[in-house]
Amino acid sequence: MASLLDARLKQALADRIRYYNELGIYDFYRREPAASVEPTQAEVQITSNSSLQPEQREEMTPRTKAAVPVVVEEDIFQSAIPKPEAGVTDPTRALKLIREDLGDCTRCRLHKQGRKQIVFGVGNPTADLMFIGEAPGADEDLQGEPFVGRAGQLLNNMIKAMGLEREQVYIANIIKCRPPGNRTPERDECETCSPFLMRQIEVIKPKVIVALGAVAAKTLLAINAPMAELRGRWYDFRGTKLAVTYHPAFLLRDPRQKKEAWKDLQMVMKELGLKAPAQKSQD
Ligand code: URA
Repeated sequence: MASLLDARLKQALADRIRYYNELGIYDFYRREPAASVEPTQAEVQITSNSSLQPEQREEMTPRTKAAVPVVVEEDIFQSAIPKPEAGVTDPTRALKLIREDLGDCTRCRLHKQGRKQIVFGVGNPTADLMFIGEAPGADEDLQGEPFVGRAGQLLNNMIKAMGLEREQVYIANIIKCRPPGNRTPERDECETCSPFLMRQIEVIKPKVIVALGAVAAKTLLAINAPMAELRGRWYDFRGTKLAVTYHPAFLLRDPRQKKEAWKDLQMVMKELGLKAPAQKSQD
């Protein structure tokens, strides 16, 4: 089937896809044309007139569903680089390949704003439950592991209260480098970094994701709402159940909200068939 795109446009699209691949983005979604107007009789004649040059056909092709040849798009995507972890069935190995693809990342400004190291993620590569926080803090930046500071201690207690050990779950953040002074990550930093997290999620395939705090919830769900409205219900995140709860750092500042966070975690436990461990007797 003859291509309806001219060679230069095709090359430009292929270059753009490679550019995104280098940024760690490999998944593309096709947006359907807004209006699906049936071609007029005259347009049908023009489209099927094989005596026209490709450039002319491209110009005159009506923007209808029938006029978007999938084969042309596939041609372009064939020139894209496959994800390094594509086809790798061992999740530990696949995560290692994603980490290698991330490299000594310089994709956003944070690499030159005092980060000591990249904090990739930690835990069970086949975990049923994944916690996603905001960004590494000072302790995490030093140790290269998410949630190892005071907020991490509280997260560990939350995990224990659910009847699990930290090693059984997977823990990561929306961004992998510490923002200076622990400021809130900027939207462009989240957008640049999160494709790597998406790939981690695809490999781990958790049954449930818990978004810790507003930055994680808003980035994953693309919803701008207050935490009190976001929590307490299930969301569908690319086919995975996602719950939102308060960030442990917030719970350290406002312990009265722990009751609410516990309700969120109980919802998750019910979904995963988990039982809280029996309370140790006081005597
Ligand atoms: N807060 C986060 O959101 N993530 C961490 O890893 C530590 C603190």
